[in-house]
Amino acid sequence: MRKPIIVGNWKMNKTIKETVEFINEVEPSLNDSCTYGIAAPFTALKDAMATAKGLVVAAENCHFEESGAYTGEVSVPMLKELGITHCIVGHSERRQMFNETDESVNKKVHKLIENDITPIMCIGETEAEFDAGKTEEVIRTQLDKDLAGLCPKCVSKMVIAYEPIWAIGTGKSATKEIAQNCCHIVRDEVRKLYGDEAAEAVRVQYGGSVKPNNIKEYMAMEDIDGALIGGASLKADSFKEIIEATK
Ligand code: PGA
Repeated sequence: MRKPIIVGNWKMNKTIKETVEFINEVEPSLNDSCTYGIAAPFTALKDAMATAKGLVVAAENCHFEESGAYTGEVSVPMLKELGITHCIVGHSERRQMFNETDESVNKKVHKLIENDITPIMCIGETEAEFDAGKTEEVIRTQLDKDLAGLCPKCVSKMVIAYEPIWAIGTGKSATKEIAQNCCHIVRDEVRKLYGDEAAEAVRVQYGGSVKPNNIKEYMAMEDIDGALIGGASLKADSFKEIIEATK
């Protein structure tokens, strides 16, 4: 049985104070039916780790080198030192605005796994690709590149977030059928690349305008093992509603 994982992606939001307040407010609502987490900015990670007892604290990005002349970057051992267990990689905002490529995503995934940190690896097609009927091709190609050279066991521990770019921050969420179909394609590609065990164990999230009022329908779909949630994860009340809807 795959335990679902629901993670709030805060992006460039929340100070340390806001982070601590959020965690204190949300923690009493947690339950065992899912793994719940938040991905916070680097500056808030240490305090988030010190405050959280049940919530998983994730980083939003990392560099693939251990150390060196990479001004402004944060390495995986630095996250490890904080006790971080999960890290988002390859979010479409990083791919589109910060030159993230399939090659760098792949290197980051390798480095995270080497350090026993679970990658939450994001993939997904643009609106133009969706309109052109290229979704499946894009998903499979991204996975082939982003997951290259891993071991089946490593992949089985990963979280892969399918996030159609046209649904992110737009309020235009994918239908549950589209989300299920695409998460099924993700699992099928993992099966082709790394076999049945990895495919059955890997957790596949849907992301893109997930809200308290639609989370349930996604969670009911066979291949959807949770969600990556931006906007609706920023307010404690809304995140608590999501927790309530998924218990
Ligand atoms: P959204 O963001 O829920 O605001 O659409 C999702 C994401 O960027 O992961």
